[in-house]
Order: sequence, then C-alpha cells, then structure tokens
Amino acid sequence: MRIAAHPHLYDPSPATPVFHGVTCTDCGRAYFPPISIGCEVCGAPQARLEPLELAAVGIVRAMATVHVARHPDPPFTVAEILLDGGPLIRALIHPESAAVRIDDRVTARWRATGMDQAGNRTVEPGFVLCENEEQQ
Ligand SMILES: [Zn+2]
Repeated sequence: MRIAAHPHLYDPSPATPVFHGVTCTDCGRAYFPPISIGCEVCGAPQARLEPLELAAVGIVRAMATVHVARHPDPPFTVAEILLDGGPLIRALIHPESAAVRIDDRVTARWRATGMDQAGNRTVEPGFVLCENEEQQ
C-alpha cells in the first residue's frame, strides 16, 4: 500500500499521481499547492476557491541539480514545471527518468521515499520524461 508523504497535496491511490489544487470560480486561475488566502489574481475570497484535480503533466521551464542536501539523498534534480492545468510548480525529477531538458514534456510517477512501521511505502511524485503522448 502506498502512503503519501504529503497527503494534502496528492492522493497516493491512483497509479499515476494527481495533484490536489484549487481553482478560483471568479477568474479561473488554478493554484498548486492549494492556497488558503483567497485568489491572488482577482481578490476573490477563500470561499470562492474550489478543489481542482490537476494532472501531473507539463513542460519543464527551468531546472537545477542539487549536490548538497540532507533530504533526499543528493544529487537530485529540481525542476520548475508548467502544468497543463496552469500552475507553475517546483518538483523533483524522478531518479529513473531519462535525461530531461528545458521545454521537455514530463509526467509524474510515484517515487518511494521510505517505509513506515507497518511496511507501507511512502511515496512522492517524481517527474519523468514523456517518451510519447500515448504513454499516459
Ligand atoms: Zn480569481
């Protein structure tokens, strides 16, 4: 069984990660991670933001390899990814991904980050290069 490392951000049940974002019912702006201060674009109050499921698919806009860190084990690559659903997010490139470059299309896979006392795998999304569109 998979356990989300960050349960409010994604549901570990589906085979492919789906992010829990929010969208503004007034202007349509989508946010991930979900915000709780109302819409930053049009000023609509928090009550006008609704939950939105965001497919973990997008385009790499920037990336950096981290060589010194406590967690996860370095080196690893952090990317800014413009999701198809709108938000620009910061996420890890999956260690098993083929080489990723800026402007590449990527999608998320589960990445094991540990094991709890009961033997459940804790997971986080990690992005991998889309080999082709049909793969999703
Ligand atoms: Zn808005």
